[in-house]
Amino acid sequence: MEKNHRILSYFPRKHFYLLVLISFIFLVLFFLSPSQERQQKELGQSLITEVSLESLKQTDLTIDIGNSLIIKESVIRRNDSLFSILKNMGAKTENIIDLINSPNSYLLTNIKIGNIVKVELIGEKIKNLIYIEDYKTEVIAKHTDKGYLISRNISEEERTEVFKEVTIANSLYTDGLKQDIPDSVLMDLVYIFGWDIDFVHDIRPGDQYSLIYEEVYVNGEKKLNGDIIIAEFINQDKSYTAVRYKLKKGNSEYFSTDGRNVKKAFLRTPVKLSYVSSKYNLKRKHPILHTIRAHKGVDYAANRGSPIRATGSGTISSAKVNGGCGKEIKIKHSADYTTRYCHLERFAKNIKEGKKVIQGQTIGYVGSTGLATGPHLHYEFHVNGKHKDPLKVKFPYADPIGKDEETKFFTKANYFFDKLKKYQSLSG
Ligand SMILES: [Zn+2]
Repeated sequence: MEKNHRILSYFPRKHFYLLVLISFIFLVLFFLSPSQERQQKELGQSLITEVSLESLKQTDLTIDIGNSLIIKESVIRRNDSLFSILKNMGAKTENIIDLINSPNSYLLTNIKIGNIVKVELIGEKIKNLIYIEDYKTEVIAKHTDKGYLISRNISEEERTEVFKEVTIANSLYTDGLKQDIPDSVLMDLVYIFGWDIDFVHDIRPGDQYSLIYEEVYVNGEKKLNGDIIIAEFINQDKSYTAVRYKLKKGNSEYFSTDGRNVKKAFLRTPVKLSYVSSKYNLKRKHPILHTIRAHKGVDYAANRGSPIRATGSGTISSAKVNGGCGKEIKIKHSADYTTRYCHLERFAKNIKEGKKVIQGQTIGYVGSTGLATGPHLHYEFHVNGKHKDPLKVKFPYADPIGKDEETKFFTKANYFFDKLKKYQSLSG
């Protein structure tokens, strides 16, 4: 409703009233019982006459009731062009060409897949067109006596900071959602701290996190959940921090308040948290399935077919069936580091010995091949041929904040860290 209202506000008010009126009349004609119908029809007729005469006086619009005003909306798909979209909506070719030949029509040449075009048509004539470029930008084509006037309208946005503090009783997600933290922000939180913390095995009731994130408003309406500015995670009494910082290169990354990049050479968890079984409820003990005699890895119960990702970039050193491990993948990441994945349902496309994979790439799917009592991923981390606890092993870091950016970074990091602490103390 909200959206429609916004769109309609760009059309001349009179058209809007007329549209409402016509819709109303049709509804009435369709739904009323015969005895009421005649009466309503009469009322309808007289209103239509009034409005159309009024419009004829003040605009160049010719109202023909058999040729009513329609608003059409289309999501841009692959291979669509403005021409094809308008044609499909029923606009006349000459009319589309007029529009395309109008000044500023270049604003409509780069339409993007997934964006929306809304058009007000009268018969085959394009009266007004709105292309929604992004959450605050619209390109508007209005028909006037002098042809189409095309302009880009950028609304002012307002950013507000939101502070949240959560003590985990059940899970990062459910407890976060309970405090109205948007899903997308929780996903970002998992990404940011997921390099250090395994959200499946490491979380304990009583762990805490707090964060400041942005919300973006346009015309008083919330449009986006912005980025996390700063966050702190206290996991089993160990504190992790992350501050968003825009590097000189132009991209933004997260660094701990002491300047280390939160990104590591390895992801902590080989199955995305969203796929891991809800069986991992903190109130229950994790169902550790010791499927391999000397258990040297960590298990993730997940639905059969959940994607498994390479925790680091490297080369597949083996992808085959291997005894109790079942369908197995081994990745060699460097001379020192190897990871191993067991019980796969199947390998991903093109995963075979010798192939290069990048961090996060799907290499296979969760199953229960080999000695497994149910679908789960058994995951191992080896350093120089020795088993390491994947939950405890120290990963090599990505580049820290550069020397030349340190001063600026620490000023910003300290400013937001103080702010976070202030909020925390206020919230008790
Ligand atoms: Zn296992």
